[in-house]
Amino acid sequence: MPSRKPKLRVDLVIPVYNEEGVVEQTYEDVRKVIDALPYKFTIYYVDDGSEDHTVQSLDALARRDKRVVVLELSRNFGHQAALTAGLDAAQGDFVISMDADGQHPPSLIPQMIELFQQGYDVVQAQRVDEGGTSFKRLTSAAFYRIINAISGTQMVPGAADFRGLSRQAVDALKSMPEYHRFLRGMVSAMGYRSVILPYHETKRMGGRSKYSLGKMVRLAMDAIFSFSLVPLYIGMSAGVIFLCLAALEMLYVYSFWLKGDTSTLAPGWSSLMFIILIASGVILIVLGFIGVYIGYIFQQVKQRPVYHLKKRAE
Ligand code: UDP
Ligand code: MG
Repeated sequence: MPSRKPKLRVDLVIPVYNEEGVVEQTYEDVRKVIDALPYKFTIYYVDDGSEDHTVQSLDALARRDKRVVVLELSRNFGHQAALTAGLDAAQGDFVISMDADGQHPPSLIPQMIELFQQGYDVVQAQRVDEGGTSFKRLTSAAFYRIINAISGTQMVPGAADFRGLSRQAVDALKSMPEYHRFLRGMVSAMGYRSVILPYHETKRMGGRSKYSLGKMVRLAMDAIFSFSLVPLYIGMSAGVIFLCLAALEMLYVYSFWLKGDTSTLAPGWSSLMFIILIASGVILIVLGFIGVYIGYIFQQVKQRPVYHLKKRAE
């Protein structure tokens, strides 16, 4: 009897937050792609505390399709936490994470699996054609420029959380228990054999972006303060510059004393104020940076779970 090789198990992790208008459609698009592939698929939908009818739609999908598992978080924990919940639950040999809004084309799935089979542990999709001037694209480009300048970890510009990870890479990621999670950075910090797969991002199928400005800022802060100590050095360099300025000023004043011409020295209120204001501004900014790092340390030492699971349905 010929021995049958067990089928490759491929998991999809899809975080969902208030996407009732699109989940059905994007599921259909995914289904069409995976139905044509000879692997054992499981789709983990992570409901990130949706307030609309997303959970009902997902539960209906789970009843219809045995491959669908719904993980319901107890509240909205954010995209990165929802992804983490899905990666923790996934059991497959290759785990692909993607968005639920149709912006990550499922047609890339076969190619991602192929690259995994060629031996890559990290198959990272990269958004290309960022010619537009939308707010999101501009801020994203600026963000990657800054983070790559100040962080020791290099990050791929336009790399979304659309990537495939081998079992080994998923396990490595799971061993990083940080509370402030910027998965793109963590994946590049992790190493392993990686490949970049360019793709053209399509429009959102419906609804509005669930990444509010506040959430974008928080993500950027998580990236900067978790992956760089440069903000702390900014203060130090500013301090050194101010010390040098003070030394120059002392020499300047001393020269008046040497010449015996101190009568012209008295008025100086504006320059004094200028120095005081700048110096205290710098001190406050630096104190703020230190405060942020202490806050991050505080949250990390509490060792709180990144998410809480309310229910699992399959
Ligand atoms: N999302 C989530 N929790 C959140 C915000 C977003 O699970 O707090 C999901 C969202 O449903 C989508 C993915 O994360 O599947 C990416 O979000 P979105 O498309 O709104 O971000 P954008 O593409 O605008 O950056
Ligand atoms: Mg989107």
